Amino acid sequence: MAAHQEKKLAEERKHQNMQNDTKASQGQWGRAWEVDWFSLASILFLLMFAPLIVYYFIMSCDQYQCSLTDPLLDLLTGNKHLSDIWSRTPMLTSRAAGIYSLWVAFQVFLYVSIPDFCHKFLPGYVGGVQEGAVTPAGVVNKYEINGLQAWIITHVLWFANAFCFHFFSPTIIFDNWIPLLWCANILGYAVSTFAMIKGYFFPTNAKDCKFTGNFFYDYMMGIEFNPRIGKWFDFKLFFNGRPGIVAWTLINLSFAAKQQELYGEVTNSMILVNVLQGIYVLDFFWNEAWYLKTIDICHDHFGWYLGWGDCVWLPYLYTLQGLYLVYHPVQLCTAHAVGVLVLGLLGYYIFRMTNHQKDLFRRTNGNCRIWGNRPEYIECSYTSVDGTKYYSKLMTSGFWGWARHFNYTGDLMGSLAYCLACGFEHILPYFYIVYMTILLTHRCIRDEHRCCSKYGKDWKRYTAAVPYRLLPGIF
Ligand code: NDP
Repeated sequence: MAAHQEKKLAEERKHQNMQNDTKASQGQWGRAWEVDWFSLASILFLLMFAPLIVYYFIMSCDQYQCSLTDPLLDLLTGNKHLSDIWSRTPMLTSRAAGIYSLWVAFQVFLYVSIPDFCHKFLPGYVGGVQEGAVTPAGVVNKYEINGLQAWIITHVLWFANAFCFHFFSPTIIFDNWIPLLWCANILGYAVSTFAMIKGYFFPTNAKDCKFTGNFFYDYMMGIEFNPRIGKWFDFKLFFNGRPGIVAWTLINLSFAAKQQELYGEVTNSMILVNVLQGIYVLDFFWNEAWYLKTIDICHDHFGWYLGWGDCVWLPYLYTLQGLYLVYHPVQLCTAHAVGVLVLGLLGYYIFRMTNHQKDLFRRTNGNCRIWGNRPEYIECSYTSVDGTKYYSKLMTSGFWGWARHFNYTGDLMGSLAYCLACGFEHILPYFYIVYMTILLTHRCIRDEHRCCSKYGKDWKRYTAAVPYRLLPGIF
């Protein structure tokens, strides 16, 4: 017994030393190694309350016409008990389970089985096998970029069914919205738990794993950097892009179909939400190769935050405007509608151009033109786990000279436009802009913390050259 315990202790010490070695060489580049009490408190809060928040929003629409205050008032005044609300909530059904399983299986099939052909005939589109960024362990992963193709095939089938085959009603998503929520939760928890177990027992790349020793933090923020099954099934790329983002536009179409069924027309606000969010989704897939260089893929580890977030949070909360408009069909006056369209398109333009400028700058290593001039930049360097020194550049002209995250500013303008399309009667559709402001401000701070650790004094020179984060002269 004693010998067994000693052996176990020796193994634990060996494991700890291994982690410390990696930790020492990897420094603070990437996700944190230690958990401060604030991060832990935030994580526990999110783990406990994020699923309840999603349920609360969807239930408010289902039972209270999208009022966020009425359910609370009912509960506080004793008018209703939690059990009353729960008993009126649709449960998981075998139909929803069937639809959801088929949906996920279909997206897996499109992802792993059909190599990209869009890049062969769409000029300017980058698809097929592409390389990701260098990981902290110095690995460069290859990805099969075929999201645009998956989106097109899925939507062609959707329209073919809606207009020709009529196998199912286009309102199918709305009609099963809450039962599907339970399915999405099951997948979200299952995939996050699997990722945690995989990180411990059979990681894809052990050197790119991070353990804080805190179960909740590791579960939430992930252990493995790029978990994969086989050569091509990359968890981050799949769950980030599909099934959630491919579904986003289908969900909106289903909400529009429901409006048509209930009121005999689709309002201009619903059309605006469908069009503006459709542009955003299409942009995502058109630029999927570029997406490999964004924070989600380059820096975040795969845990509950991405796994559950992509399965539940994204499809359910990013589509609240469309859901709201089913319950409140808002017909906007022309001036309001045009204002929303202009704000949405301007926001999109800023978002796209800012991202494009950085992408062009990085791809050409600064040998390009930004607004007709040679880009200005700061030379910087960083070191990976194996001690290799890399050189990089931080641009200080174009939109990147206005603010350090002007792409987020454009994103926020677009987000506000979706909300304004819903009028001013209820606060629920404004959740998106509140959430995006918190998300992108937090992301900004998180990214800057990481870049500061990565580039050190070079980053300080950069922030001195471009002093504002989101709004020039203000923040
Ligand atoms: P960025 O595309 O801004 O990428 C930040 C990274 O770019 C930094 O970590 C750094 O990486 C590099 N970088 C920073 N400054 C410069 C510079 N001046 N010149 C060159 N490179 C620089 O951030 P995200 O990945 O977060 O966002 C990508 C887009 O996705 C944004 O437009 C954002 O709005 C959107 N987004 C949308 C979300 C949604 O839910 N709708 C969620 C998150 C993002 P390096 O280490 O390579 O130097």
